[in-house]
Amino acid sequence: MAAEKRLAEMCEAFPLGYTPKVVWRGYRVTAGLAYYRVGVIGLSTRVLKDEKAVIETLVHEYAHLLAVARHGVRAAGHGAAWQRAMRDLGQEPKVRHNYEVERNVARQSVTYLCLRCGKHVVRARRLPRRRKYVHAQCGGDLRLAKVERITVVASDA
Ligand SMILES: [Zn+2]
Ligand SMILES: [Zn+2]
Repeated sequence: MAAEKRLAEMCEAFPLGYTPKVVWRGYRVTAGLAYYRVGVIGLSTRVLKDEKAVIETLVHEYAHLLAVARHGVRAAGHGAAWQRAMRDLGQEPKVRHNYEVERNVARQSVTYLCLRCGKHVVRARRLPRRRKYVHAQCGGDLRLAKVERITVVASDA
């Protein structure tokens, strides 16, 4: 997929120090979100209709992660650090104001640890307690490791 290729290129040319995880979500007005504390890029299944829009949004959100990786949380938003990151990544630093819903939103991030392979699995909410959950990739048991409030840097198209 072209988006995966683009992400790999950005990770190579402008490393963040980690590989961001891309997740698809049902955001209604927001094309994408950058969750800088957990290194996750959320893309909207409803707003993004074609590959071009997917890649533009992926670059936009990667630029948020890159700006924060370079300068810390104060580089959140669409200021100079984000604009420089966008230019580095080869995209005009434009914000589509028709979709723009810039805000800081506190959300929950729940991390599970796979007891077999040791990978962390990040989810937006806690799984119901009574059931047992397994890691889809390896079949190992998942154990709740961490629940934290995260702040969404930016939510926009
Ligand atoms: Zn596992
Ligand atoms: Zn943004």
